[in-house]
Amino acid sequence: MTAQYDHIIVGAGSSGAVLAARLSEDPETGVLLLEAGPDYASIEQTPDDILNAYWVSLQDHDWGFKAEAVKDRTIDYARGKVTGGSSAVNGVVAIRGVPADYDEWAELGNEGWEFENCLPYFNKLEDDQDLGGDFHGKGGPIPVRRWKDDELTPLQQSFRQAVLDQGYPYHEDFNDPGSTGISPMAQNREGRTRISTAIGYLTGARARLNLTIRGECLANRVIIEDGRAIGLEVESGGELQTVYGDNIILSAGAIQSPPILLRSGIGSAEDVAAIGVDQVQELPGVGHNLIEHPMAYVFCVPKDGVCDMANPLFQSMLRYTADGGEENDMQIYAANHFVVSDLPEMHEIFGVDMAFAIAPGLQRPNSRGRLHVESDDLHAAPRIELNFFDDEQDKARMREGMRIAWDIAQSPAIAEHYERIELLDQATIDDDDALDKYIWDTAAQIFHPVGTAKMGPASDPDAVVDAHGRVHGIDGLRVVDASIMPNIVRANTNLTCIMIGERITDWIKAGE
Ligand SMILES: Cc1cc2nc3c(=O)[nH]c(=O)nc-3n(C[C@H](O)[C@H](O)[C@H](O)COP(=O)(O)OP(=O)(O)OC[C@H]3O[C@@H](n4cnc5c(N)ncnc54)[C@H](O)[C@@H]3O)c2cc1C
Repeated sequence: MTAQYDHIIVGAGSSGAVLAARLSEDPETGVLLLEAGPDYASIEQTPDDILNAYWVSLQDHDWGFKAEAVKDRTIDYARGKVTGGSSAVNGVVAIRGVPADYDEWAELGNEGWEFENCLPYFNKLEDDQDLGGDFHGKGGPIPVRRWKDDELTPLQQSFRQAVLDQGYPYHEDFNDPGSTGISPMAQNREGRTRISTAIGYLTGARARLNLTIRGECLANRVIIEDGRAIGLEVESGGELQTVYGDNIILSAGAIQSPPILLRSGIGSAEDVAAIGVDQVQELPGVGHNLIEHPMAYVFCVPKDGVCDMANPLFQSMLRYTADGGEENDMQIYAANHFVVSDLPEMHEIFGVDMAFAIAPGLQRPNSRGRLHVESDDLHAAPRIELNFFDDEQDKARMREGMRIAWDIAQSPAIAEHYERIELLDQATIDDDDALDKYIWDTAAQIFHPVGTAKMGPASDPDAVVDAHGRVHGIDGLRVVDASIMPNIVRANTNLTCIMIGERITDWIKAGE
């Protein structure tokens, strides 16, 4: 079959939109970008839930997945379904992992991912509005800005004061590699507008005749002949169609790239057979090694007027190192508002529509989950098993995080903002077993799944792709998205996914 495109990219999210925009910079290169959700071609056409950087869009452009957080407890598991992907619905937190995160990827056999090699791509993707120097970029597609002191809500000012009173340091910049403590949130926004990869990267590329962007196209499987990917089967307009290309790149995210691989016959013999597909390549890591950041909450029922949806969701955050943990392996947020009215049980107990929360999140979990793909139906959702707190150290660090969050919430600075704390009391905080149970019953996700098609050398039996995102054993096929992180970074994952898109683009352009 004749290739119709040089590159066909599946998924226009944090990584996929970057690849499409960068690869099509060469007018000789034909690029097709396929996205399952709608494509809004301009800011004017983009709905408010996608533009509103002060909130996360969890329903209007969502896949509607569920995940088992811990055994027998299922939670909603949002993923963006729109050009821009999850970067178009997320909390706009724009921070990088610590250097050791990327150095570890390299130590695992992925040459080129050392922090010093990632840094130029982190700088390239951003237009830092506040800071310069070696660790910040100017003129890139994604603006990054920090909240100024006089922009903080009274609750956020109190949060900062309470954290400083506990002895944690202040640092102006999360993205300084040596920083820790409390910092104003760095965010990818212009005023109230979320700058997703659709806006930041695709807007300037749309007019190119060598770039085709198609929304409402659902990729089913990769067509592979004699060990080479030659095309894709895609549902468009209700019909399965085939499109051919020299290079197929899956950027459907950590929950959806693995099912496409499995439907293409790539995975363990057992996992592929389970959906009745002929195996093409034995790669047992497909869909395994799922890593997510768990988060728990101290919920505060606010005094009148404290919670207002007109305020940004987050404005600052604390990072610290847990007892016996590794650098910055914990985050604590103060959420200006947490919508309770959508959660009937909590709504009844709380008696208000909105609460605020002091919320610790574990950034370097040892627990691993997995995806269960149980059907070859392209519309079937994978069963997502997060397996939080499978590890004793994870439990201990979350207990410690909850106790620190509790102390912050008890401080006079924070206490003046709430009527009472709900669902939690001092006796529970003081008792390991009771606190474990509280965390087990209430913990949720920070929406950061990674690792399900991890990169590593061919000698690693669990590696799915090599350091350049090339699927082991199959020519012309790459995975480039959150799936390929071999371990999760100690940060919200969006900037790292964009960096992955930038980094691998340069290898593709160099023919590597
Ligand atoms: C609610 C929420 C809040 C978050 N908040 C933050 C935050 O504040 N800061 C931060 O750093 N990170 C945040 N994240 C995480 C971050 O946004 C993700 O890690 C990142 O966007 C993932 O990038 P990706 O390219 O791997 O996948 P995505 O950006 O999810 O892109 C995948 C794309 O592929 C499409 N797709 C999937 N399957 C198919 C198919 N079969 N055919 C065609 N297209 C398909 C999807 O519709 C989607 O557009 C948040 C995520 C969510 C969901």
